[in-house]
Amino acid sequence: MKYYSTGAKSVSVTLKEAVIKGLAPDRGLYMPKKIPLIDKKTVSQMKEWNFKEIANTVAQFFFGQDISSGALKEIVDDALPFETPLVRVHDNIYTLELFHGPTLAFKDVGARFMARILRHFIRETNSKKDINVLVATSGDTGSAVANGFLGVNGIHVFVLYPKGKVSPAQEYQFTTLGQNITALEIDGTFDDCQEIVKQAFTDGELNEKLYLTSANSINVARFLPQSFYYFNAYAQLDKRGISDELIVSVPSGNFGNLTAGLFAWKMGLPVKRFIAANNRNDVFLEYLKTGVYNPRASVETYANAMDVGNPSNFARILDLFDNDHRKITDLISGFRYTNEDIAQTMQKVYNLYGYVLDPHGACGYASLEDYGLLPSETGIFLETAHPAKFKETVDRILHSDIEIPAKLQKFMNGTKQSVELGKDFAEFKAFLMK
Ligand SMILES: *Cc1c(COP(=O)(O)O)cnc(C)c1O
Repeated sequence: MKYYSTGAKSVSVTLKEAVIKGLAPDRGLYMPKKIPLIDKKTVSQMKEWNFKEIANTVAQFFFGQDISSGALKEIVDDALPFETPLVRVHDNIYTLELFHGPTLAFKDVGARFMARILRHFIRETNSKKDINVLVATSGDTGSAVANGFLGVNGIHVFVLYPKGKVSPAQEYQFTTLGQNITALEIDGTFDDCQEIVKQAFTDGELNEKLYLTSANSINVARFLPQSFYYFNAYAQLDKRGISDELIVSVPSGNFGNLTAGLFAWKMGLPVKRFIAANNRNDVFLEYLKTGVYNPRASVETYANAMDVGNPSNFARILDLFDNDHRKITDLISGFRYTNEDIAQTMQKVYNLYGYVLDPHGACGYASLEDYGLLPSETGIFLETAHPAKFKETVDRILHSDIEIPAKLQKFMNGTKQSVELGKDFAEFKAFLMK
């Protein structure tokens, strides 16, 4: 499969090149030239399969031309040793719990998959030089990527995160690891971190000296595997006979997760409508309403992994729908929530149904309510993180003392190690060059 850039359709690179480079040289995002169609029969068989089996099948369609089926199966099986269970919250509202991986957030899926694909290609290349993975994080990406790549030979990971703007549980998950992981505490916002990373990829001097790649959802090996669990969600509903009119609500920040869902839809997954659930960072909602995309600085909210003012994958969404606003609004709706809305939703769902939402999932749930599901429709919202990752916020809102899973506690017992840097690209560059 060849990949082009959202910047130029004439670009044509292999999967290997797209994964190793991350971002195209013109700063565009790589897109597969063809989106494979999965036949209806295969999709309907999935209800008998587990997550790994579904993931293997979808992966084969996307990556089967570039990686031998044996190697690909090893990558998928090793990357995804956990399930993404579907849980009924009430009536026709379900949640797909994506937090059963090692760092308790959905990003484990893409990060673990990408680490293994990259390792596969590095082995093939036989390069002596390390590959440096740069990742900007508002919290969860850093932990998933750092843990996904921990101890992988030939790869060094630099995690850039905004000082004081991630939760303690998130911070511990990527600052306590050591080995091939370096945490950089940037005196700025997530958007500043993301801008530094983007600049690094286009800096001639830096790229001459070092191999750099990105593990943000701009990387095709990170975001495409996220399409696997949309098929899994469908399969689980299909098994219960309620998959005919599916509404999928996705708590969104950089829009990698939603874009993966749109790819699944293009591959033939029967979804009636997608909902982009946002916090106060609502540039996408504004685009849906007005057709004008107006990126701006992000504001801090309870759902901090969605505090993004200029979502990277917006370019992919435009590209998928030929820049046609009408086509986009025909398939995608949007809603936005303030911190007060998030808190009220969490309290309501906890009190009425006994389900503990995290602040991101709360936006997803609230969107389904505001959308107003018909009795014939089934709504799914993605639960993108375990609530214990935001324990301080969740306990304050619910007056609870939720349990911290052992997986998470293990990180909290470690010692934080990080390097503090300003938000200037020059400072970051000087650090990498030495
Ligand atoms: C990253 C993240 C999101 C946003 O996902 P995008 O793919 O960036 O849109 C939502 N919730 C949680 C918990 C996250 O970590």
